[in-house]
Amino acid sequence: MTDCIFCKIANHDIPVKVVFEDDLCLAFPDINPQAPTHLLVIPKQHFANVTQAGDSLLGHVLKAAAGIAEKSLPGGFRIVINTGEDGGQTVDHLHLHLLGGRDMKWPPG
Ligand code: 5GP
Ligand code: ZN
Repeated sequence: MTDCIFCKIANHDIPVKVVFEDDLCLAFPDINPQAPTHLLVIPKQHFANVTQAGDSLLGHVLKAAAGIAEKSLPGGFRIVINTGEDGGQTVDHLHLHLLGGRDMKWPPG
């Protein structure tokens, strides 16, 4: 997807601070952080949202996010996948938010 900002980040056409990378996914800080730690974990392949990707890839990106969190956020964390307009999704390339470093509220807004 040539006009997708996260595809450009995944291809390293737009530079980001890479927190984790493997052949299938990339983790980098959110440009507008909502917590002391706020990373985005994206598959390198373009999927519009969580309904479009297969189990294997979904498992891979979830384990990548959990692995980062396990090492860096021992007090706990939250992983969020906003989906669609009602879900608050603003970038149509599947991404997991990894949030931590503060007390998370429930229910979320
Ligand atoms: P969504 O609202 O779709 O769940 O999350 C999209 C996230 O991407 C937002 O938290 C927003 O701050 C972040 N974001 C949008 N554009 C960029 C960008 O160019 N670079 C980075 N690092 N984050 C971005
Ligand atoms: Zn994309």
